[in-house]
Amino acid sequence: MTKKNDTKHAVKHHLHPFSDNGQLKKNGVRMMVKAKGIYVYDSDGTEIIDGMAGLWCVNIGYGRKKLAKIAKKQMEVLPFYNTFFKTSHPAVIKLSEKLIEITPDEFNHVFYTNSGSESIDTMMRMVRHYWASVGQPSKKIIIGRWNGYHGSTIGGASLGGMKSMHQQGDLPIANIVHIEQPWYYGLANDNESEEEFGIRAANWLEEKILSLGADKIAAFVGEPIQGAGGVIIPPASYWPRIEEICRKHNILLVSDEVICGYGRTGKWFGFQTLGFTPDICTTAKGLSSGYLPIGAVLVNDKVTEGLLAGGEFNHGFTYSGHPVAAAVAYENLNILADKNIIEKVYTKTGPYLRKRWQETFSQFKYIADIRTEGLMCGFTLVKNRETREFFEDFGTTGLLCRDIFFKNNLIFRACGDHIVAAPPLIISKKEIDIMLSIAATCMREFEELMDQKLSH
Ligand code: PMP
Repeated sequence: MTKKNDTKHAVKHHLHPFSDNGQLKKNGVRMMVKAKGIYVYDSDGTEIIDGMAGLWCVNIGYGRKKLAKIAKKQMEVLPFYNTFFKTSHPAVIKLSEKLIEITPDEFNHVFYTNSGSESIDTMMRMVRHYWASVGQPSKKIIIGRWNGYHGSTIGGASLGGMKSMHQQGDLPIANIVHIEQPWYYGLANDNESEEEFGIRAANWLEEKILSLGADKIAAFVGEPIQGAGGVIIPPASYWPRIEEICRKHNILLVSDEVICGYGRTGKWFGFQTLGFTPDICTTAKGLSSGYLPIGAVLVNDKVTEGLLAGGEFNHGFTYSGHPVAAAVAYENLNILADKNIIEKVYTKTGPYLRKRWQETFSQFKYIADIRTEGLMCGFTLVKNRETREFFEDFGTTGLLCRDIFFKNNLIFRACGDHIVAAPPLIISKKEIDIMLSIAATCMREFEELMDQKLSH
């Protein structure tokens, strides 16, 4: 089968997520057929660097045979059993113990899901149930941030601050509100320091709380670093101030760790890097490095105590704590720990990527706000970096740039006009160099293209 037929065939029956399926039917897709380490291979045998670790999830890299072995063994022994009706199984118990081992002391309980969106929906129901259980049922409002991403279910899409998602289907649902994101380059006043901006941005939360009434607010939810919003890294002053505000007004603090969790920022969790302690963490992705779908909501003792007082929590999924996914996730966490993968991100590859990312992209005139934390990185495409002038129709130029990367067999992603990368955590310094040398070639091509476009 030729590649062309192959790719058209792929979209004959399949409606793709987050895609213009009409366009896909016309143009086809690229077929990925295998993967190893940081590389994926298409049906032509072309080697592609996966600078996005799939969808920010393949933390331990592709091709770990041990996980396949463990999945097979678990399927043979106990492929499925539920945990609804006074039953449990060894795989989920082992995973829970492991999760408790890697979280701070006050985290001793886990609720399982199959995805980040389900973790978010679970958390939304959980915080409201918590407040009702401790006698404050009016605390229902959940505060998120514009440009935050919390998934694609009705709950997750509502809590996220993606206006394009809200536009499709009358979102957000009731009792969800948003504050502005802490994006220094985009929103700081002239002469405002990063630290000052971080405090001002956090204070938007307090203003919102005061205008709505703390007695009506259940929780504030944020990604430590906004991922799909474009790798927006807040100033160091931001999260400690957010935590202070939540404590002062008796509002639960939720860290959405679906991307940042399990090593992405060089620590087990993003909140450890960004300097705060949440009450609840929503996680998924890196929990199994994407080898099987599984998510987990990590709950601290204060919230657990309230939940236990509240009797039955009428919530759960058929596959909550699925034995095969749990066994695979357990082994994934062991690999992350035993092979010092996260430690290396913190001490070696993270700092190296930061230096090389800066060096590589600072030479290009249409790039501003070059940023990294651990193995999460981004920059913003701008018409003029001194005057902070963006391109018209935010997002169009990003896609153009992203397609140049893709054509050159490097997967980076466009989030609006932010270009982002998040390679598997096992990437070596040498592979970082290879990745960035291709990226530089792509940016030269992009710069020429924009020079031409702007001269017309
Ligand atoms: N929260 C965050 C921070 C995410 O980045 C994502 C997915 N990118 C989700 C939630 C939703 O996860 P899923 O796609 O697994 O439902």
